[in-house]
Amino acid sequence: MKVELLPSCLPAGEAQFLVTFLVNDHVAIDAGSLGLLADLERQRRVRHVFLTHEHIDHIATLPIFLENVYDPGPDSVELLASPDVLDFIHRDIFNGRVWPDFFELSTASDSFVRGTPVVAGEPITRAGLTIMPVTVSHCVDTLGYVVDDGRVAVAFPSDTGPTEQFWERLDALPRLDVVFLEVSFPNRLASLATATGHHCSASFIEEIRRLRRDVRWIVVHRKARYAAEIAAEIAAAGPRNVEFVAPGRVYEV
Ligand SMILES: [Zn+2]
Ligand SMILES: [Zn+2]
Repeated sequence: MKVELLPSCLPAGEAQFLVTFLVNDHVAIDAGSLGLLADLERQRRVRHVFLTHEHIDHIATLPIFLENVYDPGPDSVELLASPDVLDFIHRDIFNGRVWPDFFELSTASDSFVRGTPVVAGEPITRAGLTIMPVTVSHCVDTLGYVVDDGRVAVAFPSDTGPTEQFWERLDALPRLDVVFLEVSFPNRLASLATATGHHCSASFIEEIRRLRRDVRWIVVHRKARYAAEIAAEIAAAGPRNVEFVAPGRVYEV
């Protein structure tokens, strides 16, 4: 499986402002930076976009992406998310003011986008991947996804603070190889992390011990102004198998 966290700063560098993971060629998780890919062919190959929640860093360029890849005809991008998130996206973004209502404009013969609701615990298969939505613990209802290609499995918990259910689900899976887990704040802002449903460095270290299996942990979603502070705190705790994501690097797992 190929996984890339798309770069989201200019010029492209390590800072992460937005969230889009590309999985192989045809699946994206979140659309924070998806519409910024300079290679329009790469954008066009993405046919299924799974959204974790409606926060702007996860959906910012969804309207731009759908505009970029629209081709007149019946085939269109599929947007997969919880029913609530699909509704928010339609009402608050594709509402004919902020952006054209691509849902209403879509017909059987000429489609911009198709919405497909997903449910926590019910896996769905797309582009040769089995994708399982799992509830996490953020300040709004949020789904993480576990992507399995039949050989390896990768977990994308999205934005979350401490959660037990997610790790129980992951412990029960037949395989799990990599987890892209967030750390948003340094320890001095632990109370803000708790209030907003995110991890600080210390809660991240506690959290990775909840999983009973050995995996490769890749830290994502560090707020750019705290990135170095978080890296130092995690390094000082000395956990095994933890690294920091390199945006734009293709992880072959
Ligand atoms: Zn969020
Ligand atoms: Zn976020």
